[in-house]
Amino acid sequence: MTPEDDNLDTSSKSPKPVAYTDPLTGLGNRRRLMDKIRKLAAERADDPAPFTIGIANIDGFKPINDLFGHAAGDEILCQVAHRLRACLPDGGFVARIESDEFAFVLPLVFEKKGAEKIGRMFKDVLSAPYDLGDRNVRLSASFGFAVYPFAGEQFAELLKSADTALYRSKRRGRGQITVYSEEIAEEMRYGTQVEQALRRAIIADEVAVHFQPIVDLTDGSIQGFEALARWSDRELGVVSPGVFIPLAEERGFIDSLTETLLKKAAETAKHWPSEMFLSFNLSSAQLIDPATAFNMLAIINRVGLDPSRLELEITETAMMSDPEIAAKVIQELHALGIRVSLDDFGTGQSSLGRLREFAFNKLKIDRSFISEITVDKSSEHIVRAILMMCKGLNLKVIAEGIETEDQAEMLRSLGCKSGQGWLYGKAVDSAETFRLIEAQQKAQLEAYPTFVVSSGSSDLP
Ligand code: C2E
Ligand code: CA
Ligand code: CA
Repeated sequence: MTPEDDNLDTSSKSPKPVAYTDPLTGLGNRRRLMDKIRKLAAERADDPAPFTIGIANIDGFKPINDLFGHAAGDEILCQVAHRLRACLPDGGFVARIESDEFAFVLPLVFEKKGAEKIGRMFKDVLSAPYDLGDRNVRLSASFGFAVYPFAGEQFAELLKSADTALYRSKRRGRGQITVYSEEIAEEMRYGTQVEQALRRAIIADEVAVHFQPIVDLTDGSIQGFEALARWSDRELGVVSPGVFIPLAEERGFIDSLTETLLKKAAETAKHWPSEMFLSFNLSSAQLIDPATAFNMLAIINRVGLDPSRLELEITETAMMSDPEIAAKVIQELHALGIRVSLDDFGTGQSSLGRLREFAFNKLKIDRSFISEITVDKSSEHIVRAILMMCKGLNLKVIAEGIETEDQAEMLRSLGCKSGQGWLYGKAVDSAETFRLIEAQQKAQLEAYPTFVVSSGSSDLP
């Protein structure tokens, strides 16, 4: 059988069982791929020559389906199949294994460079416009490769390695190519170690929450606190939330981690003066879970924190993975009286139009602009423009990562009202928040002896 025959269900010549064929594109399906890889691995077990498998995933395929309809989506998939089949190197095989995911076997590609070269060729071929009759559509695809036997000796293991490589590509943006490597394998092992330790720490209640003050820039008084997760493991030492939060998301236990964190944060926050808010970070996985708003409310209700004192921070990037569900979650949060702020503004990929659609209450200007604001004119202009825009949109603004008095002064002169950063304080534990609040109340009382600090809820423990 020629390589071409091998890739096509030519039922008139030699009918193959339907279960081996993808009915839409006529390519082989996952079972066919499994057979192919098993056979090749069995052959290569005696002959130690490696071979390569790869997965291609179309970037942003779902919006295409939603925008142009399923018929157009199907047409694109058929064209992708046709192109991949047409440009397969000698002995190659391609299958469709999921809606917008194609896998291939490259028996004559032995190492990373060769895989990357084929990846670049496929990428170019797939990025040419697709003809949909009345219009042309452009797409990109992401790739993950795995080389046998290093990345796995069995089908499942090999495909998993290619999938891990693909996941890395997706995380880096669109149109990326990754080959599973020793470095990735090492990161995976570390990830597994962190995962096991973290799962144990959650059960043993060892993950803590600290609080960074958010202040009024005119007088430095505390308006609220942002909750930030803190964890130190006996063996691994201090692990940054920038590492363990994405890991918990990736490995599917972010819900139990969030529940512990929000519960602890709310237990502290309910003892602050009632005008002070708690700002809590939502992770991206929670924005694609329709149950999020209800879950958050259930947690704070159990603790007894008023929803109007809770703000949830979400990032632009998190919103973009499924803007429809994200919009629904945000709408429900509003309906429950929980405010929503847009975190790390300026670093994500969303459009300004989304600011209007999503109806945020607040926007947090990312630290990368603030840290440059006194030395880089363009950062200053960007911050100025963001502040103007927010004024027009009636959005409150918090400047993040203020480290120097000069930066604070500049922000004040531009009309920014709130901020946070090491200048005003790093994240501190629950007990320290009470000391900070008490110190502030004392200072206010000394300055204005008749000043009533808060509406009666100074039940600091
Ligand atoms: P983020 O939400 O942007 O949080 C702000 C980060 O900036 C924090 O890092 C904070 O410690 C740091 N920071 C604050 N002020 C300054 C400053 O003046 N200078 C500098 N250089 N850094 C400053 P951290 O605590 O390491 O958290 C990193 C990220 O991890 C957070 O970024 C957030 O995305 C995530 N994260 C932390 N806690 C949680 C959590 O409970 N849930 C979720 N989903 N994510 C969390
Ligand atoms: Ca944040
Ligand atoms: Ca932030």
